[in-house]
Amino acid sequence: MALFREISCFAFLVLGFIFEAAGEDHPCDGIIGDTNNWIRSARRTNVVVIGGGAAGLTAAKTLIQNQAGDVLLLEAQDYLGGRVKTIREGPLLVEEGAGWISGGSANPLFNLAKRLGGMNSPVRKESYDWRAKTSNGRNADPSGFDVAASLMEECDVDPALVPYHSTGYGRCFLDKFPVRYFAAPSEKEAWLHYLHMWVNKEAGTNDWMDKSARDADHFTEWDMADLRPWRRGFDTFIQYLRQEIPASQIKTSSPVCKVFWDLDDAEGSVLLVTSAREAYLADYVVITTSVGHLKERHRSMFEPALPSEYLDTLNGVELGVTDKILIGWNEPWWGKRPLDLHIIFQDFNLPSEESWLYSIMEFVSTQRHDNVLQAVVTGESAKLMENLPEEEVKNQVVRHLKRVTGQNVPPPSFFRR
Ligand SMILES: Cc1cc2nc3c(=O)[nH]c(=O)nc-3n(C[C@H](O)[C@H](O)[C@H](O)COP(=O)(O)OP(=O)(O)OC[C@H]3O[C@@H](n4cnc5c(N)ncnc54)[C@H](O)[C@@H]3O)c2cc1C
Repeated sequence: MALFREISCFAFLVLGFIFEAAGEDHPCDGIIGDTNNWIRSARRTNVVVIGGGAAGLTAAKTLIQNQAGDVLLLEAQDYLGGRVKTIREGPLLVEEGAGWISGGSANPLFNLAKRLGGMNSPVRKESYDWRAKTSNGRNADPSGFDVAASLMEECDVDPALVPYHSTGYGRCFLDKFPVRYFAAPSEKEAWLHYLHMWVNKEAGTNDWMDKSARDADHFTEWDMADLRPWRRGFDTFIQYLRQEIPASQIKTSSPVCKVFWDLDDAEGSVLLVTSAREAYLADYVVITTSVGHLKERHRSMFEPALPSEYLDTLNGVELGVTDKILIGWNEPWWGKRPLDLHIIFQDFNLPSEESWLYSIMEFVSTQRHDNVLQAVVTGESAKLMENLPEEEVKNQVVRHLKRVTGQNVPPPSFFRR
């Protein structure tokens, strides 16, 4: 039986632009056939790497550098990078996926970026026009923010998490916030909701109780305030990874639909079949698709089923959904400085189709372009937003910004979600 390995073992963020978005037909639906025919037509290769994100490209590059034989990378989408997706539109450069190198020089990407053209300076919080507003346009009590911000630091320090090892990470906030913030119960509730959405944004969770406090303890303590964007876009990293992989060894738009990993007739090789019914026989397979993808597709993808210890782990992992909204104007309508707008919901009375907006706790100018605001949407709200038409999402965001700021918000010139 061929060695069968998964290298992408921890990925809690599932991005809205990948093809597993809710409600869409999957390109692998309906791929059935005769394994003998596929074996006969299969191209033989030493290694197939499934997935052309940062992990897959790193795997392929490393294998090629170490002369591992014939290596082929198969990527489902029509571009490489996966959850790294830099968008260039006219003068704009925005990141739809990963945006930051966090943690300063402790992060290996930091030194790589320095070599490959550099990073922009860290974000300077003082330069922003900071506002905390209620969802219906009043100024919110800034001391609620101070308590929330102090807990974001305190609940990240290992000793503070020990009492919560048998519960969820969110419990640390639920216990501490109400006794630290002195206000009417409804005000406390509003700030707790804001804090919950803040944690979801940072942790990539759907619910702050989904992250275990015990595991939160295991993260390396990096200086998370040191956030730097790649000077020429995060995809500089992707271009660097791919440059040593010959184009003939990369196939995009080739989702792997079937992995037969224990076939008697395959002489110890793994048989892979793509959505275009192209077949490959590989001695080794490296799988770098996200855990979200594996959770959703493993039943139809693997024959025989994955070993039970893999399935137990997959089933035990709770995944969050994180989407990004980017909305820009030719001129910033809010004023001259970059905006950092925090939103505290006191009333939850939006129409149901707009209820996904409750998960946005902040609109903030992107580092490169003051006139482009970015917001993160998580969990069920993200799924609701993904299923709405783009124009409707855009109009809802504009109406929301008008309500919250009380300012005139012109139609945006740029919108991505
Ligand atoms: C909104 C968002 C913001 C983020 N911000 C940051 C940040 O600021 N800094 C940071 O360091 N990280 C950030 N991350 C995390 C970072 O983007 C990911 O950790 C990283 O890109 C994951 O790389 P990967 O190769 O493991 O997975 P992916 O990038 O998901 O790559 C997996 C690839 O496999 C492909 N694939 C899936 N199924 C198949 C199949 N059946 N056949 C073939 N190919 C398949 C997918 O299309 C994809 O290209 C962010 C993530 C998100 C979603």
